[in-house]
Amino acid sequence: MKWSRKGACKWRRWIQVLRETHPAPHPVMVRRVPLKGMDLLGQCALRAGGKRGKHFFIEVDSSLDRAQAWAILLHEWAHALNWTEGEPDHSAQWGKTLAELWREHVSDSDYEAELWALSPQPASWPSRRKHSHGG
Ligand SMILES: [Zn+2]
Repeated sequence: MKWSRKGACKWRRWIQVLRETHPAPHPVMVRRVPLKGMDLLGQCALRAGGKRGKHFFIEVDSSLDRAQAWAILLHEWAHALNWTEGEPDHSAQWGKTLAELWREHVSDSDYEAELWALSPQPASWPSRRKHSHGG
């Protein structure tokens, strides 16, 4: 889904706010890329190195609208905040973190108005798709 310039700008601003309010143990890079072919909505991986050094790499499916993408980003961001090698992905702690992120960012009147305005009908939410955690 092609976003408006304003929409893309808000997305980047949201990510900046997340970085400031909920910093992960390593820097977090976020990209919107087509993941539909992989049957994924989003994924989070810890990457070892290169020029950027150790960092989390979150990918969000670019076919999602902004409200959907935001929900997936919070899900993946909660993984970055609770990253533990070899542990179950969706632990109680992960759920708690996601709930905190959600409450903080979705209950704020600005985000709330934005999200409700953009909310898709339930039927349009992609079904049977998942996300993964590599790296
Ligand atoms: Zn997950």
